Amino acid sequence: MRPLAQCQVLLAAVLASIAAVASTSAPAQDRAGERAAMIETIKSHARSAPSAVGRQGIDPAVLETMRKVPRHLFVPEEQRSAAYRDRPLPIGYGQTISQPFIVALMTDLINVGPGDVVLEVGTGSGYQAAVLSPRAAKVYSIEIIPELGKRAAARLAELRYGNVEVKVGDGYYGWPAHAPFDGILVTAAASHIPPPLVEQLAKGGRMVVPVGAPFATQFLMLVEKRQDGSITTRQLLPVGFVPLRGGGAR
Ligand code: SAH
Repeated sequence: MRPLAQCQVLLAAVLASIAAVASTSAPAQDRAGERAAMIETIKSHARSAPSAVGRQGIDPAVLETMRKVPRHLFVPEEQRSAAYRDRPLPIGYGQTISQPFIVALMTDLINVGPGDVVLEVGTGSGYQAAVLSPRAAKVYSIEIIPELGKRAAARLAELRYGNVEVKVGDGYYGWPAHAPFDGILVTAAASHIPPPLVEQLAKGGRMVVPVGAPFATQFLMLVEKRQDGSITTRQLLPVGFVPLRGGGAR
């Protein structure tokens, strides 16, 4: 009897420890708690953003999307522990994944909806494209560094962001085959607003693009194309992006 009883105790202990591991490791892997904290940080950052941003805060629907996208799976292994801090992180090849607040703000500013087609210039890690994915019908994203483009495309497919299409190329020239776009996000700083992208913006569409000299002060610009085809631009806030490269950017 005695050995059996000991066995049962041991079994119970093993089962309890398996249950404990299961209940702590699943959320730890998913990191939902860290994402929730990141959302709170974005909200407080938005409250203190310059009034030029002209917003009452980030659209709650954008924050809900960001609550679900696993940012830690878009950064290199050695950056994973910092994935939910509100700051940019290196992703290799001298490039960075943008700060979560900036991703939230840019996503909010182009204000796209379920039927819309969006263009992103500067796929990088693919994170911004993943945040756009559930908010649009289709997301086209262009990356100039082949290794980053291929890696992001594979990651987005693996995580089942099925409506995102990535191509390697110079995004300065847009993607004419899929134009016009209801929203365009440029995630690298241009010396000027690229005319081909203005051309490819739909009537009623919005483009958000950082403009300024590399490594100097840049400003996030909001470009809107009215129904009559006229263009308005608004300078929103100072930002720091990696430079837009390629033929047209010079
Ligand atoms: N949106 C990205 C962050 C991008 S960092 C993310 O969510 O991770 C800017 C990216 O723009 C870099 O990967 C850089 O290689 C790319 N880039 C720079 N110039 C470009 C160009 N002309 N066309 C396409 N991509 C460009």
